[in-house]
Amino acid sequence: MKNFSDFLHSIPHKFKPEEEKTLHKAYLFSYNAHKGQKRKSGEDYFVHVYEASLILGRIFPDPNTLAATLLHDVPEDTKVTLEEITRQFGEEIARLIDGVTQLGHVRMKNSKDKYYVENLRKLFIATSHDIRVILIKLADRIHNMRTIEFIPPEKQVKVASETLEIYAPIAARLGIGSWKDELEDLSFKIVYPKQYEATQKLLQEELTHRDDGVKQMEKMLNHTLRTEGIKYLEISGRIKRLYSLFRKLEKYNGDIKKIYDIVALRVIAKSTADCYAVLGVIHKHFQPVPGRIKDFIATPKPNGYQSIHTTVFNKESKTFEIQIRTDLMHEEAERGVAAHWFYAEEGKPETSGRLSAKWIKELQSWQEETSSPEEFLESLKIDFFRDRIFVFTPKGDIKDLPAGATVIDFAFAVHSDLGYHMMGAKINGKMGSIYDELENEDVVEIIKSKKPVKISHAWLKAAKAHTSKNRIRHYLAENNKGIYDRIKELKLKDFSLPRFFRKK
Ligand code: MN
Repeated sequence: MKNFSDFLHSIPHKFKPEEEKTLHKAYLFSYNAHKGQKRKSGEDYFVHVYEASLILGRIFPDPNTLAATLLHDVPEDTKVTLEEITRQFGEEIARLIDGVTQLGHVRMKNSKDKYYVENLRKLFIATSHDIRVILIKLADRIHNMRTIEFIPPEKQVKVASETLEIYAPIAARLGIGSWKDELEDLSFKIVYPKQYEATQKLLQEELTHRDDGVKQMEKMLNHTLRTEGIKYLEISGRIKRLYSLFRKLEKYNGDIKKIYDIVALRVIAKSTADCYAVLGVIHKHFQPVPGRIKDFIATPKPNGYQSIHTTVFNKESKTFEIQIRTDLMHEEAERGVAAHWFYAEEGKPETSGRLSAKWIKELQSWQEETSSPEEFLESLKIDFFRDRIFVFTPKGDIKDLPAGATVIDFAFAVHSDLGYHMMGAKINGKMGSIYDELENEDVVEIIKSKKPVKISHAWLKAAKAHTSKNRIRHYLAENNKGIYDRIKELKLKDFSLPRFFRKK
């Protein structure tokens, strides 16, 4: 049997004695319930829940969530009932486990279309009750992906596609970078094996070219920051993950020369002010590439990501991306919503409340606005699972839109009234059309008319976000009623109509 004190020591958190007691109880309870069960790998089943709990514990060491993770397969796979768990561990832990069980149960039906959609809906309904359920489910999926080689190949592809389409994007949306990266790369290898290999080869070649350059640049950067007297904690190189490199290559028709951040140097500074000081020194000594400075500290990404990115030329005129952030920002980029939530629990409840409430509200509004399961899935696919772009208002507010979004989407995202009064737009200071497709970091100013404008079907075609589509559809339905409907409406209200329209 694995050792409980090893388990505790692998989690970077100091638990209170009563928390430790709960965890120990859950640990033994789960071990005994799964006794004799084996995984496809031949290992004891308990190893799975043990590892899943460690994965969770490293980013979210919440004792009740950890206990629930240890117990998450008990009601489904053993004789022990949820009622028994409720008696032993209380309502909260039991509710978390129940949420996880329900998700797994629907997936077991193995159906593609309707059940798949149904599954997604339940997934989100469960999530909107408690984000911790989804954290457990993600940790569970990471361990299943790490051990996927032991299941039959066809099943591997199915599980990996689901991971790539659903689980990795959820991790990304929750800002949990470390989980998103791992889920993507593990599934990429199985879903697109040829592309995986090709990308890996390309990356290897690129790295052999660049290896010396990177080391040199790191040295130079160290030296420069020290002589300028800038305090920083660490400089390290980070290599772009395979799946995200693959996606970027697709975008640039396979031209690796267009990708600036294959290798990036990361400077961890002590404070936000130091981040800007580091940026200043870097730009003083290395020529920056125009248009490549992104300040996600001043305007964080919607998932909370903060960092300054810049690309500079070295002495040989080669480009390097440099990312500057504090250690806290780094931590949050790896742990996302889990970090926010956890720090909040330690005494800042406001942030976590706002953060999770916002997420929940968004999910619920998707469900209300769409009627059929197919439509719901479609809206999720487009708005949630594809890449997002970030567009600015003239005042610097950031709008999170689906990739391919147009000026029309932007206007409705700012305010529906703005959409109904939109005549034209300035994009980055230049006149543009309302049908223009937007790009990351565009600054868009909508030109308003005094009266509502006439909206045509062309708008519907140009809109990409489901909220703007819904608004436009609603408008078109209201304004394209048959002439007969109109006359009927008029008759009810207005008795001074010409005789022709009146009823006999
Ligand atoms: Mn499991």
